[in-house]
Amino acid sequence: MPKFFIKTYGCQMNERDSEQVAHSLAALGYERVGHESEADVVLLNTCSVRDMADQKALGKMGMLGQLAKERPHMVFGFLGCMAQARGASLLKNLPYVDLVVGTQKFHHVADYVDELVARKKNRISENVERPTPINREQAPNAQRPIENRMDDLRFSIVDIEEEAGSQSTIRDQQLMPRQATAFVSIMQGCNMHCTFCIVPQTRGAERSRSIGEIVAEVRDLVSRGVKEVTLLGQIVNLYGRHEFPKVDNKSPFVQLLESVHEVEGLERLRFTSPHPIGFRDDLIDAISRLPKLVEHVHLPLQSGSNKILKAMHRAYTAEKYADLVRRIRRARHGIAITTDIIVGFPGETEEDYKQTRDLVEEIEFDNAFVFRYSPRRDTPAAEMTDQIDEHLKEERNQDLLEVVNKSNRRILERLVGSQVEVLCEGPSKTNRARLMGRTRTNKIVVFPPSPKRRPTGETEELVGELVNVRIERANGFSLYGMPLLE
Ligand code: SF4
Repeated sequence: MPKFFIKTYGCQMNERDSEQVAHSLAALGYERVGHESEADVVLLNTCSVRDMADQKALGKMGMLGQLAKERPHMVFGFLGCMAQARGASLLKNLPYVDLVVGTQKFHHVADYVDELVARKKNRISENVERPTPINREQAPNAQRPIENRMDDLRFSIVDIEEEAGSQSTIRDQQLMPRQATAFVSIMQGCNMHCTFCIVPQTRGAERSRSIGEIVAEVRDLVSRGVKEVTLLGQIVNLYGRHEFPKVDNKSPFVQLLESVHEVEGLERLRFTSPHPIGFRDDLIDAISRLPKLVEHVHLPLQSGSNKILKAMHRAYTAEKYADLVRRIRRARHGIAITTDIIVGFPGETEEDYKQTRDLVEEIEFDNAFVFRYSPRRDTPAAEMTDQIDEHLKEERNQDLLEVVNKSNRRILERLVGSQVEVLCEGPSKTNRARLMGRTRTNKIVVFPPSPKRRPTGETEELVGELVNVRIERANGFSLYGMPLLE
C-alpha cells in the first residue's frame, strides 16, 4: 500500500487534525512514514497565524518540486489554515500540488488522496502525460464538489467549503504504544475577531461537539491506556455557548469538565486555550473542586496596556486580567499560569510596552510565549497605519523574554528538593538515554530510566506511567531528578 508523510505546522489543534487524517489514511491501509523521501503521498498541514508560517509551508512545498519531477506518481497536498485562506491560488506557482483541503474537510482527505493515487497510477500505466499547469490554472472546477470532478482529467482537488457538523469529525486517533497523553478537539472556530488574528476566517464560526460525543472519545482513549487528556478549542472555555444552555448556573464548558472528570481511569485533565472573557466564577469553582484538573492554566494576556487591548479587540482590561489571575491562584494552591503576549502591536508606545512589562513582572508567569507582532493579511490590524519598526519590536521581544525567563528560572529553582508527580511520555528529545515527562503544572522533567520494581520482582518500563520524581536541579526550561521507586 502507498506510504504517506504528514508534516504539521502551527498549533495543537493542527496536530490533532493531522492525527485524524493519519487515522483515516491508515484505515484505508496506507502506511505512515517519518520522512518525505520514503513517501508516495506528502501532506503539509499548514498554519496561517503569521506570515512566516505561510512562507515556511510554501518553501517546504517548493523544495518538494524535485521529488515531484523524479517520482511522478507521488501526490502532494496542502491542508488546513493556509489551504483554507488561499484555496486554488496555491496551485498557480506549484503545479505539482494535487490537493488543497480546508479546515472543515479533514475527514475527506483520505478519500481524496486515494482517488488521486489511483488516477495517477492509471494515467502512468496508460502512459498518458500529466496535464500541464495551464490546465490546472483553470480553477473553476476546483471549487465544485468532488463527484462533479470525477470524470474530467484534472488531477487537482480543491475543497475549502464550509460543512455543517465538521466539528464532530475530528474524533479518531491512532495511539503510539504506551501513549499516555492525548488531545481531544471539543470545538472549532472562533467568533471573537481579535484584530490581529486570522483564525475566524480560516476556522470559521464557533461550533461545538456534544458532551456525550466528547465523553465517549475520552472513554475510548482511556480504555486504550491514555491517562491525561487535553481538551482543545480556540476559546475553549466558551465551548457550547451557542448550542447548549447553562445548567445550575454552570456554563456548558464547566458541565463538560464535570462529565469528563467522571471518566474512570482518567488521571489528569487539561484544557487550552481559554479566553479571559468568559473565565467566570463557575470555572474558577471547578478548578478548586475537580482534582483531576491539573494545576496549570494557559491564559493569553496579549498586552498589559488597556489602549492596546482595546485596539486588539480583547474585551478586558489589564486590571481585570490581573484580578482573574489572583482568583485562579486562590482557587488552587501552586497552580501554574502561562500566557501569550504580543509586542510591537500597531500604535504600541514605550509607555504601552512598559505597562506590559510591569504587569508581566507583577504576575510572575511560569512561562510565556512572546511574539513580535507580524501583520497578517486580511486582518484589521494589518491595515493600521501606526505599524512599529522591526528593530523596536525585536528589542521589546528580547527585553520581555528576559523578564519571563527570570521568573521561569525562579519558579523552577523553588522546585529543587521537592517531590513531583510526572507522567512519563518517553525518551528525552535531547538525550534518548533518559526519559522525560511533565508535572501537573506542565513543567518538563528529565530523569534516568530505572525500571519500576514490582512486588513480584518483575520490572516495567516507566513510559506511560505516573512516576514520583525527586527534583535535583533546574536547568534552562527543564527540571532534572531521580525517580522514587517503591
Ligand atoms: S480569541 Fe482572538 S486570538 Fe484567539 S482565535 Fe479567536 S480571534 Fe484569534
